[in-house]
Amino acid sequence: MDQARVVGWGVSRYNRRAGLAVFICVPPWIPRLYPIVRIGIGQDSHRLVAGVALRIGGIDIPHDRALLGHSDADVLLHAVTDAVLGAAGLGDIGQMFPDTDPVNRGRDSAEMLAAAWKRAAGDGWRLGNLDCTVHAERPKLGPHRKAIVDRLAQILGCTPGKINVKAKTAEGAGPVGREEIIAAQCAVLLESTQEKT
Ligand code: MG
Repeated sequence: MDQARVVGWGVSRYNRRAGLAVFICVPPWIPRLYPIVRIGIGQDSHRLVAGVALRIGGIDIPHDRALLGHSDADVLLHAVTDAVLGAAGLGDIGQMFPDTDPVNRGRDSAEMLAAAWKRAAGDGWRLGNLDCTVHAERPKLGPHRKAIVDRLAQILGCTPGKINVKAKTAEGAGPVGREEIIAAQCAVLLESTQEKT
């Protein structure tokens, strides 16, 4: 069995069966062999009100209620935006897009996520993976899951295989179960080969 670990300026690798230990020297000016990884989490919820404009994950979903918000109230994209900004150490969505700014009224949340991702990618981050959960009693999101994954992949410029979207009901309990809100949570892993200070 191989054991490898980063030691100082290099990587030590030990093969127990062969009884062989190797140390590979990696000076700091050579790109890292192992990427730096950072985790970000995102959470958001919006109130359900009368209306028909329901957008989740950048997809318009037919429903008899709508989410209320200053922008287009896309609860999933807001959570993902916060997770990306958090992992990259760039603050949060409220700092980047204040709800006191009239420019952000009714704004397409895909635009906001794309702008946040552009900043993170500009700092050298690439997406490891993104895992999301949407909490909604109704509508059923299963039929829209692939479209949501594809849209997220399009915004983040990655393959759909790096993204997972789950949907859960609250079985009638709490504000989600009473259909007062829809909530979303996500975790994102960012990778970089550049040292971060
Ligand atoms: Mg929000």
